[in-house]
Amino acid sequence: MSLPVCLVLSGRTLQENLENYDRFRAWVDMVEVRADKLAPEEWQKLGTWPLFGVCTNLLTLRRPEDGGDFSGSDQERLQFYQNRLEEAWDWWDLEEQHPLPRSLEEAYRAKGGKILRSFHDFHGPPHDAQQRARNMIEDSDAVKIAVFVKDSSQLWDLFHLSQELRDINHIVIGIGPYGLVTRILGAALGSLWTYATSELGSNSLGQIDPRTLKEVYRVDKWTLTDAVYGVVGNPIHHSKSPLFHNNGFRELGFGATYVPFLADRLADVLSLSDYLNLKGLSVTLPFKEQAAQVAALVEERVRVCKAANTLVHTTKGWVAHNTDTIGFIKPLLRQIGSGNLDGIKVSVIGSGGATRGIVWVLRQYGARVLVLNRTFNKAQILAAELGAEAAPLSADSLERLDAFSDVIVQTTSAGMGTQIDVDPLEFYPWKGSEIAYDIIYAPPRTKFLQRAQEKGCPTINGVAMFVEQAKEQFELFTGHEYPFEDPNF
Ligand code: NAP
Repeated sequence: MSLPVCLVLSGRTLQENLENYDRFRAWVDMVEVRADKLAPEEWQKLGTWPLFGVCTNLLTLRRPEDGGDFSGSDQERLQFYQNRLEEAWDWWDLEEQHPLPRSLEEAYRAKGGKILRSFHDFHGPPHDAQQRARNMIEDSDAVKIAVFVKDSSQLWDLFHLSQELRDINHIVIGIGPYGLVTRILGAALGSLWTYATSELGSNSLGQIDPRTLKEVYRVDKWTLTDAVYGVVGNPIHHSKSPLFHNNGFRELGFGATYVPFLADRLADVLSLSDYLNLKGLSVTLPFKEQAAQVAALVEERVRVCKAANTLVHTTKGWVAHNTDTIGFIKPLLRQIGSGNLDGIKVSVIGSGGATRGIVWVLRQYGARVLVLNRTFNKAQILAAELGAEAAPLSADSLERLDAFSDVIVQTTSAGMGTQIDVDPLEFYPWKGSEIAYDIIYAPPRTKFLQRAQEKGCPTINGVAMFVEQAKEQFELFTGHEYPFEDPNF
């Protein structure tokens, strides 16, 4: 069963709401008009709301204690609903703790209107949620439970709750960034519909726009028997992986969706297998080492790198792979125009999680490698293990750097995020003949690459590596080649 998308309209005027609806109408099945957000003079126009008969219309007047803006008296609230009785609202959303007089609710339902009884809890899922939902459904048509998700372990609680409530009409929503998946995977939670915002992309509340829900995540096509894939990390909101993999799934007609799992522990996401047909995961910072440890089986590259970026669910359990290594080497071989790196001397800056696999794969392809790191001791340990040489990352190493300068690879986090203006090799005078390779992909042109490019060096950025590792991952997930040569994102 496909999952309808309900666009929440929170404008000050009905005209603003209508404009937001128009921007997204192709991806919207129903709307929720938040009357508490409207300027009070707009209320008298509600009776001629132009979307009556066009789509399903839900009306809500939420109080501050439930996350809304209506601060009027109970008498004003009663009058508001009495005035709506002759209008064509399909649903009224009424809070559990704040019913209308029974006679008014019955009169509304007698005219064909439905009541969604809801509760919001900004402290997390309450222990008595199931019982409260069962009490609420007695005099309503569906129940909505919207609770703040404090950490990734609570996702399992929400899936469990929705399973317990499978015999009653319900919607379960996780509020906050951890809850994003409950909006995308609403069908897996048995929700009657999911809510969407008119802000593009996803926001800090974990809300997401209707176009992304349908075009990227295909919530209207995904069914319970379809597979779920995802990327696990922290932070995760900037990940390009959902777009990359979902584009591929759509092109191949592959019955699956791929979602971002913001997590505190990898195990929290793996435990969702109890409720989801979880088939594969991309694993990013800070869980790559954990991924190598939790797997029932690990491939050779994972054993050597002590890190995995891909988990595939098989009949034997989770199998860990590392596609970062192949993702790194392919663009370099392409640039050099050879199938190996025999006779090539490479300097690698850094000794962090990503460096180990890179040094290993460079050695596998025949390169001689010098590892330079700010903390020299880490470079020494890594180099000794993988048959490379080591040097401190400083101007004192210029001579050795010069001797290993066919390719210079930047693998530290200097150049992105809070270190966006840092070039870890600022002391190095580029000659113009070196291939400069930075594995950072956001930004696509780091300070390191910028300086090399200015001296005429050929450059490779982290986008090339990202695409190649993701293509390899896609094949592990689906058994099919990625259907686009040049992914567009
Ligand atoms: P990490 O383990 O946190 O890396 C830490 C390394 O960076 C250490 O060697 C550290 O030196 C060094 N470092 C940090 N700030 C520095 C500075 N200001 N000057 C000099 N060295 C500095 O991270 P990681 O997991 O290896 O990832 C590194 C980067 O690779 C990230 O930007 C990540 O996004 C990128 N990456 C890209 C892809 C892709 O597909 N393109 C895949 C994987 C990773 P010390 O040892 O002295 O502290």
